[in-house]
Amino acid sequence: MAVQINTESCLKCGACFFACPKQAVEEQCGSDGEISYAVLVDVCDECRGAAGPRCRAECPVPDCIVFVPADGR
Ligand code: SF4
Ligand code: SF4
Repeated sequence: MAVQINTESCLKCGACFFACPKQAVEEQCGSDGEISYAVLVDVCDECRGAAGPRCRAECPVPDCIVFVPADGR
């Protein structure tokens, strides 16, 4: 499993970026200057050992941050 941000519902508030203890949320700036956020699957450990994903706990949008199969299917 991997943690993924649903870009459709994401408000780009940055809460997940600041909440992640592993710096696994990447802040990206598109060519249009628009900020977006993505989870780096190779860095994210899904907050193993904690109560649950911290990024997900801080996200104001229900089900914006979800678990998906690691291969993306
Ligand atoms: S699940 Fe944990 S390690 Fe992964 S991106 Fe979210 S806060 Fe970071
Ligand atoms: S906390 Fe949620 S709404 Fe805010 S940037 Fe992260 S995924 Fe998007």
